[in-house]
Amino acid sequence: MAPRPAVPSGYDDEWFDAPTLDTDVSAMPAAVCRGVRKVYRTADEEVLALADVDKDFPSARVTSIVGPSGSGKSSLLRILACVDRPTEGSVLIAGTEVAGLGPRGRRMLRRTSVAYVFQNPIDNLVEYLDVTDQMKLAARLRGQRPTEAEIDRLLRTLGLEQRANHKPVQLSGGEQQRVAVACAVIGHPAIVVADEPTAELDSASAERVLQAVHDLREEGVAFILSSHDPAVVAVSDHLLRLDHGRVAESW
Ligand code: ADP
Ligand code: MG
Repeated sequence: MAPRPAVPSGYDDEWFDAPTLDTDVSAMPAAVCRGVRKVYRTADEEVLALADVDKDFPSARVTSIVGPSGSGKSSLLRILACVDRPTEGSVLIAGTEVAGLGPRGRRMLRRTSVAYVFQNPIDNLVEYLDVTDQMKLAARLRGQRPTEAEIDRLLRTLGLEQRANHKPVQLSGGEQQRVAVACAVIGHPAIVVADEPTAELDSASAERVLQAVHDLREEGVAFILSSHDPAVVAVSDHLLRLDHGRVAESW
């Protein structure tokens, strides 16, 4: 008799007989925006931050969001990161409609499917953990346990193999931000959102961080970055240019 395939614990044989889905979820974009509009209402005025934004954000690709200050980049990234909701329109993250979720559902989706990289490198890291432990913690928060080989491979890709046992204060800003990028992709969230991730870095460090993002896109996550820096366009597969909250260019 042929040996049975190894069954992952927690699953019984029915798992193998499950009907195949008609829609191939892996072929869908990691995030989709349709008709997204965002209006901020303050006591005495309304600010239209986003209007009619349509965009697909594919897995294993880098999409940059560019545009002048005040054009709506951060507003869109907050919506994609599930920390804010659109006033109107539809946002799908990993196939889930965000608009229909309450705070708890959004929190769950954020935890499993979204990674966020802050502008200031040190804000992304836990001060008392070394680089390897930062990555293990990030994975564990997504319910994953990475192998040592996986961690080593990521460190090598980022040129951080000599830094595995360093704490954040022992790293340069550029190295810290590359660790943040490694922590963002580990455990394979659907999207990694980074709002001006290179704004605090000198241009050489910024370029290495952007190259790291480019090199890690094959991990399968959809990177969504905003930036003022023209260098970001060079590592991007897709682009969304905003102007006063509207799409001025999209490819
Ligand atoms: P960017 O990131 O491209 O600089 P933002 O998304 O931060 O643009 O801002 C877009 C517009 O929305 C701006 O006019 C900004 O002043 C306004 N805005 C952003 N956040 C708020 C808020 N919380 N309340 C009111 N207006 C806001
Ligand atoms: Mg901004």
